[in-house]
Amino acid sequence: MSFKPANHIQDLQYFGEFGGVNPSISDSSTYTFLSAKTMFDTFEGNADGCYLYSRHSSPSNLYLGEALAAMEGTETANVSASGMGAITPVILQLCDAGDHIVSSRTIYGGTYAFLKNFTTKFNIETSFVDITNLERVEAAITKNTKVLYCESVSNPLLEVADIQGLNAIAKRHNLKLVVDNTFSPLSISPAKLGADVVIHSLTKFINGSSDTVGGVVCGTQEFIDQLRNVNDGACMLLGSTMDSLRSASVLKNLRTLHIRMQQHSFNAQYLAEKFEEDGLKTVYPGLASHPSHEIFKSMMNEKYGFGGMLTIDIGSLDKANALMEMMQDQNLGYLAVSLGFYKTLFSAPGSSTSSEIPEDEQKAMGLSDGLIRFSIGLDADIERTYQMMRRCMEDLNILNNASVLV
Ligand SMILES: *Cc1c(COP(=O)(O)O)cnc(C)c1O
Repeated sequence: MSFKPANHIQDLQYFGEFGGVNPSISDSSTYTFLSAKTMFDTFEGNADGCYLYSRHSSPSNLYLGEALAAMEGTETANVSASGMGAITPVILQLCDAGDHIVSSRTIYGGTYAFLKNFTTKFNIETSFVDITNLERVEAAITKNTKVLYCESVSNPLLEVADIQGLNAIAKRHNLKLVVDNTFSPLSISPAKLGADVVIHSLTKFINGSSDTVGGVVCGTQEFIDQLRNVNDGACMLLGSTMDSLRSASVLKNLRTLHIRMQQHSFNAQYLAEKFEEDGLKTVYPGLASHPSHEIFKSMMNEKYGFGGMLTIDIGSLDKANALMEMMQDQNLGYLAVSLGFYKTLFSAPGSSTSSEIPEDEQKAMGLSDGLIRFSIGLDADIERTYQMMRRCMEDLNILNNASVLV
């Protein structure tokens, strides 16, 4: 692929109203109109460049949205107060009561809970499938199916969606393909591979400083206009709006994303190779042993690598907890959920971020107790980090325990 997402961000140019090199922050909830007619037109959605009320849109949110649309190569985008605040309106905009969704079964716990327990209130049913099995995906489609939902790299099992293959199925059945690209910004550009809607939790790599939650929906002008419609737009009416001060802050962090992703990926690739050599059950899309390594390669913008997320399975929750506590004691990272921080973050997803998924379903999808999910940080000396992690594993007898070795 020749798509250059960071160039598109770099090529945007906007100044503050006094020539500041950063756009001014719009510190207003409401906006004046010079004529009553323009106010009416704005309500009708016909006055480009006019602002109405900041739940609808604000200059700061538009700047951030345009930068993210440039990154994903979509016509436009709408930012929201959180990743869930982007996912839930998209689903509710695309589906009416009685509609059906086919979703990957390995998705973010909150999205899973929303599709499994919440949309059912509106009689919207979801079939959860192994997204890497395209025949199964297609077989799950019914006459009521409207949406095909997946994550480009899934949480927490790091399954990789064949977006081009899914796009072909979506087109055949007239479905909208919605892809959550939170785990692989810059590395994968789902819209370029056929996704209709691309979602991010900005909370993670894109903002990268673990100081806020945020989200974005990237799509066509037509779809984003629908989401913002004052009469029946899910973003407008559900009200999950990002604050302007925050969007200005996320925009500044976005500018270093290309450098950060390269370092996250470099460090994760290094550790994954070492862990695998040590005989640990390691899952990382950049390893040839990953079942979707070739598919990831065929989709990726090479420069940004295979991302910052990896998992190891060390056999039991007790061992996983002991290792995570020891690594934190030695300042190798934090025992915390979330991802995309400068420090390495680790957690055991079965008992934390994926605890919404019932135990038997966790088993069926291969989410075991001893799984540790790592979001690898920006460590300047990853060799030293590895040596220190290895020592922790040796102290806990993890590397000598045959049951966890492949
Ligand atoms: C964190 C996350 C979300 C939810 O985002 P919030 O900002 O926490 O609301 C959705 N999808 C994925 C893949 C995530 O990692």
